[in-house]
Amino acid sequence: MHPAHLPRPVMPQVPPQQLLLGQKAIVTGASSGIGRAIALALGQAGADVVVNYVAGEDKAEQVCEEIRRCGVRAMAVRADVSDEGQVREMFARMIRQFGTVDVLVNNAGLQQDAAFEDLTLAQWNKVIGINLTGQFLCAREAVREFKRRGVTPEVSCSAGKILCISSVHEVIPWAGHVNYAASKGGVMLMMKSLAQEVAPYRIRVNSICPGAIRTPINMEAWGTPEAYRELLKLIPYKRIGEADEIGRAAVWLASDYADYVHGISLFVDGGMTLYPGFETGG
Ligand code: NAD
Repeated sequence: MHPAHLPRPVMPQVPPQQLLLGQKAIVTGASSGIGRAIALALGQAGADVVVNYVAGEDKAEQVCEEIRRCGVRAMAVRADVSDEGQVREMFARMIRQFGTVDVLVNNAGLQQDAAFEDLTLAQWNKVIGINLTGQFLCAREAVREFKRRGVTPEVSCSAGKILCISSVHEVIPWAGHVNYAASKGGVMLMMKSLAQEVAPYRIRVNSICPGAIRTPINMEAWGTPEAYRELLKLIPYKRIGEADEIGRAAVWLASDYADYVHGISLFVDGGMTLYPGFETGG
């Protein structure tokens, strides 16, 4: 059997928890991959969810259908996160329809890879514009709403939560992907600086840093047995991650169970950041 298709490890079956009951969440880039899994997990935890997408309305609507089966509301909203006007309109629409915003998950992102000398300014600007500026634009709208509303104790003990989906490449340099690594390194200090600034308002800001997760963005790293074998050399835990594992981390981090967790990068990476080159003693 292709190693990438081995059965998943059995996860403990916990009764459905309503950790985010009554909260309003928005997940950017939620029509596929990690964003989709996070949007579903937030819905399963009781949140109403805005599913942001930039292209492919049908896929976003399918995600909304799945979320509604949890008994919560879901709404697909098209917006390019790198466009200030579209981001502002998306949040205005969410507040009109859902009343407020409690959780922002800054997930939308992409790669445009090239050897450094061939990297075009357009590729640089596109990746920085979506992965970093897009997170800034969405976080700014969320903070404005969190500050306007303040804490609603029966909903959450914080005024709002921002989860930045960063990457192990906020700390691991990545040759051939300089624009991507720069964008994620930028997300790290944007997140931490913002966390420092808004903490007194009871606004929590954290990042999740996935390692290798099986999604369309990195199919070339797991799509063939040879590629998967190579990938495992980078993962001490010796398996690829699944998108729903990021979803579960996001639910916990957005919930009041994590109320004292602030300004951290939570690595969900099977140990990819443990210098795997040294796993046999160096
Ligand atoms: P993906 O390609 O399935 O998801 C990215 C989503 O972002 C897509 O739905 C895409 O349409 C959307 N998007 C792109 N540009 C957008 C824009 N301008 N406005 C709104 N949405 C836009 O890949 P994924 O792996 O699910 O990636 C999600 C996030 O996770 C990204 O930020 C990525 O950098 C990060 N990440 C992924 C991995 C991994 O191994 N898959 C590892 C580390 C970090």
